Amino acid sequence: MTPHIAIVGGGPGGLASALLLARHKARVTLFERAPALGGRSALIREAGFTFDTGPTFFLYPRVLEEIVASCGFDLRREVDLLQLDPMYRLQFEAGQRIDATADLPALQRQIAAFDAHDGANLPAFMEENRRKLALFRPALERGFDSVRDLLSPEVLRALPLLRPLRSVDADLRRHFRHPLVRLAFSFQCKYLGMSPFQCPSLFTILSFLEYEHGVFHPRGGCGAVMEALGRIARRMGVDIRLSQPVERIEISGRRATGVRVGGGFVPADAVLVNADFAHAMKTLVPNAARRRWTDGKLARKKYSCSTFMLYLGIEGAVEELPHHTVYLAEDFVGNLRDLDEGRRLTENPSVYVQNACRTDPTLAPKGCSTLYLLVPVPHRSEHIDWNDTAAARARAFRQLERLGVRDLERRIRVERMMTPRSWEEQGIYRGATFNLRHSYDQMLCFRPHNRFEDLDRVYLVGGGTHPGSGLPVIFESARISARALCDDLGLQERARAPANQPAMTPAMMETV
Ligand SMILES: Cc1cc2nc3c(=O)[nH]c(=O)nc-3n(C[C@H](O)[C@H](O)[C@H](O)COP(=O)(O)OP(=O)(O)OC[C@H]3O[C@@H](n4cnc5c(N)ncnc54)[C@H](O)[C@@H]3O)c2cc1C
Repeated sequence: MTPHIAIVGGGPGGLASALLLARHKARVTLFERAPALGGRSALIREAGFTFDTGPTFFLYPRVLEEIVASCGFDLRREVDLLQLDPMYRLQFEAGQRIDATADLPALQRQIAAFDAHDGANLPAFMEENRRKLALFRPALERGFDSVRDLLSPEVLRALPLLRPLRSVDADLRRHFRHPLVRLAFSFQCKYLGMSPFQCPSLFTILSFLEYEHGVFHPRGGCGAVMEALGRIARRMGVDIRLSQPVERIEISGRRATGVRVGGGFVPADAVLVNADFAHAMKTLVPNAARRRWTDGKLARKKYSCSTFMLYLGIEGAVEELPHHTVYLAEDFVGNLRDLDEGRRLTENPSVYVQNACRTDPTLAPKGCSTLYLLVPVPHRSEHIDWNDTAAARARAFRQLERLGVRDLERRIRVERMMTPRSWEEQGIYRGATFNLRHSYDQMLCFRPHNRFEDLDRVYLVGGGTHPGSGLPVIFESARISARALCDDLGLQERARAPANQPAMTPAMMETV
């Protein structure tokens, strides 16, 4: 009989896995709680305006391109990936700015304006991180089922460049003297919801990835990529069921036997969980059935920060801002301390603003534009009351004014907001938008395993498992988990359809 795999959640990880599993001789059903696919990467549509809920930086498309190509489709024919140049603007509070560009001589000139020594060191930084990524990539592409895997040749080869006890900022000091230059190459830790002063030095590869491989904007938003994955999955025969939350993973002994949906039992030979890890464990698997990841253990783990979001549909253009702007407050360190301690909201926070219609007018009605504002804030705790959002909203508008965007209120046609509380209500544990923190003690074999260690025939995919949060590594987690699942079930690859052909209809798949 054809094995049946149930996927819990249609976020990026669940969708990419669906494709990879459909490529093998299995029947795949994907249950998504929401009425649309994409999860934190879904699109928000209102009154002709389109916003990305979460991701706006589409980095390192190579992983997803490979996944899609392995299924006989071409990602670039499904979605128009626009490479941005400049990639983004870094606006420092004191007035200096860097327009980050992959044109390295131009970037070097901008950095040299801060410190000639730092400008001269840019090529060495790039070369070192090129080697670091090449050495560490095999480790990111494999699963970590036990501590023994830390001694694998892939990890041992990467160790000399890993400097496990050093933070990103400390590592950057070897190349760059000027604190603002270091900030320009380390604020990316925020993508993981972390501080450059705590984030492991491995992650200097984040800024390198941008400069080496570019920052892309998918036309229609990152959510358009998720919709494309959904289209491809359906063409490959995946049964996608929207608005169907999984209520429980059914287990017998320690083995998953299926899922409970809408009060009924759906048998499955394996269950792949894409829902937020900690929340999914607490709600879908009884505490007594978990040995390593009990409720108590989950509560003691360290979690990323959260985000306060505004999505604004605006009349007219916002000429003051390029496509992406990162505003870095002078008291960046104090900002990070507030995030870490979680007791209060910073008065003058660093923020990120996307003004995507500069590049992509399809996102708003004619003559209008969209603004997406992200303020990093502490994850949910008893110290900050998110029932009252007026102060947080006012602060966000103040930061927009600091960036030169004034007279906005009367031009707002659409306004949506997300707070740590709303993230939590969407099933994200403590509203920690970037999952478990990426500290070394919560990475590799110390992160929840792709082949879930507490139950048989349960696999994890997405930001809560190895390698971590962020689209390229989430897609990598789909490869690792799908590979483990296929190995365990002995699933073999189907014959490949010719490139970009919607040839794999469900009827045809039955005959393969
Ligand atoms: C504000 C923000 C900005 C970000 N910016 C970037 C960026 O610029 N670049 C980048 O690479 N990454 C970014 N990320 C990080 C990351 O890429 C996204 O969070 C990504 O969507 C996480 O994907 P995931 O596969 O872990 O699943 P999720 O997106 O969390 O999706 C999980 C899915 O499971 C569903 N689900 C949950 N419970 C159930 C259930 N019981 N039954 C059925 N379905 C269920 C959910 O509805 C959801 O659709 C950002 C994240 C956030 C929040």
